Amino acid sequence: MSSANGAKPAHGIASKLFDLTGKTVVLTGASYGLGEMMAKGLASAGADLVLAARSKDSLEAVTSECAALGVDATPVVADVSDEYDVKRIVDAAIERHGKIDVLVNNAGISDMRGLPAENFDMETFRRIVDVDLFGAFMLARDAGRHMLAAGSGSIINICSIMASGANELNVIAYTGAKGGLLNLTYQLGCEWADRGVRVNAISPGFIVTPMTAPALDALGVSEYIASRTPMRRVGNAEELLGPLLFLASDASSYVTGLNLLVDGGTNASNGYYQIRPGHHGWGEMLGAPTVGNTFEGLAPLPERLVPWTGGVPGIHYSMPSEAGE
Ligand code: NAP
Repeated sequence: MSSANGAKPAHGIASKLFDLTGKTVVLTGASYGLGEMMAKGLASAGADLVLAARSKDSLEAVTSECAALGVDATPVVADVSDEYDVKRIVDAAIERHGKIDVLVNNAGISDMRGLPAENFDMETFRRIVDVDLFGAFMLARDAGRHMLAAGSGSIINICSIMASGANELNVIAYTGAKGGLLNLTYQLGCEWADRGVRVNAISPGFIVTPMTAPALDALGVSEYIASRTPMRRVGNAEELLGPLLFLASDASSYVTGLNLLVDGGTNASNGYYQIRPGHHGWGEMLGAPTVGNTFEGLAPLPERLVPWTGGVPGIHYSMPSEAGE
């Protein structure tokens, strides 16, 4: 295929869009969970890495695995809620590479106690905000100074679907902190837009990590989440890599202030039902062709909702007899 002026498109241009060779990426929360997957994925795209977390042994193990992929990888044992530690992370990147091209604010904590808001303690609330919001801001601020001086950079804040909506898990501090981080993303994305620094968010839905899978499967939470997700399943860690590489690389050079939801459609819906709506059966009952709905619901339909055979008086249109009518 040729372009309008007859020139052939450069071979391999698409794969180069996501190439991070020669880029320095600072990634927090790299010792396990989603951060471990991100570290290896960024290394496989060619990025040199500065990896931060508190657990020394796990962090060093992930660093070694990344280095084995042929990139320069440096571990920095640090707590992102500590301003001095944040400075050490940024200084380590500048001393080793002289620049920071990409910052991924992934370190985060939540709270699985299920406490209702009216009983929530301020010690836990402050700790979650300290790590998820203040930590991410301090890193953005300190790394951002170097990026602004260089006139380029990409910051990616790992938020959550809980940053832009409520849920039933009773995690008021997490919801508040991630909501703050998303608004901070919008603010920085605009404030630094004309100085070459892009700031975006990735908001995962519910992702099973090796660490969370056993507990969540045991509690059945995965099944609840899947039932209210339009794709009717939870996500896999690897499904975050494409969005991450997109925002980290020049593929997104005109994208800033974006909240990239990776959530199986959750945020697009205004609430998906956990039992199958009764009128889904109308087409079958009336003999009309239907497009299959694979979701059978978490529970059998309550008796009073089952026989909607006659439709709803006054608003029931007749069913088409063939597809497309
Ligand atoms: P995870 O398995 O608990 O991993 C959290 C990571 O953050 C670990 O590497 C942990 O390492 C690090 N970390 C925690 N506190 C830290 C601190 N004070 N300083 C430095 N590092 C710290 O969690 P995850 O599921 O991978 O989640 C990663 C990010 O995605 C979080 O921001 C989370 O809110 C977000 N997210 C996750 C999901 C999901 O379903 N999994 C959904 C939406 C958003 P150390 O303990 O070694 O410090």
